[in-house]
Amino acid sequence: MILADHFSGEIVGPGDPGYDVARAVWNSMIDRRPALVVRPAGVDDVVAALRFAREEELLVAVRCGGHSIPGFSTCDDGIVIDLSRLRGADVDPERRTARVLGGSLLAELDEAAQAHGLVCPVGVVSHTGVAGLTLGGGMGRLQRKLGLTIDSLLAVELVTADGRTVRASEDENPELFWGLRGAGANYGIATAFEFRLHPFDGRVTHGTVTHPLERAEELADRFRELVEDGPDDLWTSFGMGVPAAGRPPVATVSVLHSGSSADAERHLAGLRALDDPLEDSIEPKPYLALQRVLDAPLEWGQRFSMKSSFLASLPDSLVRDWADRVSEVPAGAEGGFSAWTWGGAIATVPEDGTAFTGRTAAFWAAAEIVWNDGALDEACRSWARTAVDAAVPHATPGRYVNDVAEVGGGVARTIYGDAKYERLVALKREWDPDNVFRLNQNIAP
Ligand SMILES: Cc1cc2nc3c(=O)[nH]c(=O)nc-3n(C[C@H](O)[C@H](O)[C@H](O)COP(=O)(O)OP(=O)(O)OC[C@H]3O[C@@H](n4cnc5c(N)ncnc54)[C@H](O)[C@@H]3O)c2cc1C
Repeated sequence: MILADHFSGEIVGPGDPGYDVARAVWNSMIDRRPALVVRPAGVDDVVAALRFAREEELLVAVRCGGHSIPGFSTCDDGIVIDLSRLRGADVDPERRTARVLGGSLLAELDEAAQAHGLVCPVGVVSHTGVAGLTLGGGMGRLQRKLGLTIDSLLAVELVTADGRTVRASEDENPELFWGLRGAGANYGIATAFEFRLHPFDGRVTHGTVTHPLERAEELADRFRELVEDGPDDLWTSFGMGVPAAGRPPVATVSVLHSGSSADAERHLAGLRALDDPLEDSIEPKPYLALQRVLDAPLEWGQRFSMKSSFLASLPDSLVRDWADRVSEVPAGAEGGFSAWTWGGAIATVPEDGTAFTGRTAAFWAAAEIVWNDGALDEACRSWARTAVDAAVPHATPGRYVNDVAEVGGGVARTIYGDAKYERLVALKREWDPDNVFRLNQNIAP
């Protein structure tokens, strides 16, 4: 088969001028050289590209936003099916639903939904892909109020390994729909998603209180009080880290309150009463502005590693350990810890309701590190690999697949646990027995 005869989108190969841009992914640690990058113009092109890849026995990488931390959306010598021409979100304000194309970024969904006073809970950086985020779970600042992104997912349109187009929802292919919500990169190429939207006026109170690292334990106390007493309208994150290379380390609490400003003021008073913060940026702002606050600091082209864990508690001993480890962040890098409040709407869905595993936790916690100098690669990666080790005794079952930077070696089983893993294997045997979609946290058939 000659692909160009069946394909109306773009085809970029190693000799072409756009090749270096086309092969790049968000994490600049990843430097791979695919044989081809193709950008389908429609679903027929996706089917043609997949057929071509199978005939030529090319390794297949699928790309939406390109944010995969281990670089699953690119490969050496294979084909990248880059869905960036399949972007857009159509909102039905009457039904409160959105149909979102499989290459869309979070910004497109956020903006389309807010234009009708609606929202879908998604992640915190607007250039993340809807597909990768959703197929893994989707955490964000509205998660305690509205759940994970998959908890608002109504249906997925998928091109399967054998080139069929199918739909998965609670009514159509329900077992596939179960697996797509947490292990979704394994089962096909999602060309569209349908989401339930929620009424949301977009007026929120958001910001960060920053103190010197020495006050981390005091701040952690205020954070725990907020978690215990706060409503599901309130999302909070406790952090410690080096905010910019060479700057002194700090401790922070970030909040988003989506209730009235009077309620926000009342609920946040204790946090804000802690004397002499280095900064207090909490203020009312539009949700759409807030969704872009991290876009520039987390722009494409940086080097990145992380490790996360779900936790039952955040004891002082762990806060102290993390404060010590902040001083081990290699000079020249920005790194630290964050613990997000979990629970709320996330915990109202049964643990076995979706493939996603980790709903019983009280916190999601992560060590994350960003740097630019390739000479720091090993030091930074090894910091991230071990930084959350002290959290192990406090961990709850599951791992968030989208955070897992390690690859192979049975890691997928540790994400889902034995029972869910076996169920996912059975599903993989049904939908992708040849493991065409293997650039992911792989469920081996
Ligand atoms: C800066 C940054 C911020 C982040 N913030 C958050 C956050 O707030 N909340 C959160 O939950 N996660 C967050 N993440 C993690 C993010 O969810 C994952 O990295 C996710 O995989 C990214 O999706 P993507 O489409 O951008 O990535 P890609 O690299 O394009 O794809 C990721 C995986 O999904 C597969 N895939 C992509 N598109 C499709 C498709 N259409 N059909 C089938 N498979 C597909 C790919 O093959 C790959 O395995 C963040 C990551 C980064 C780098």
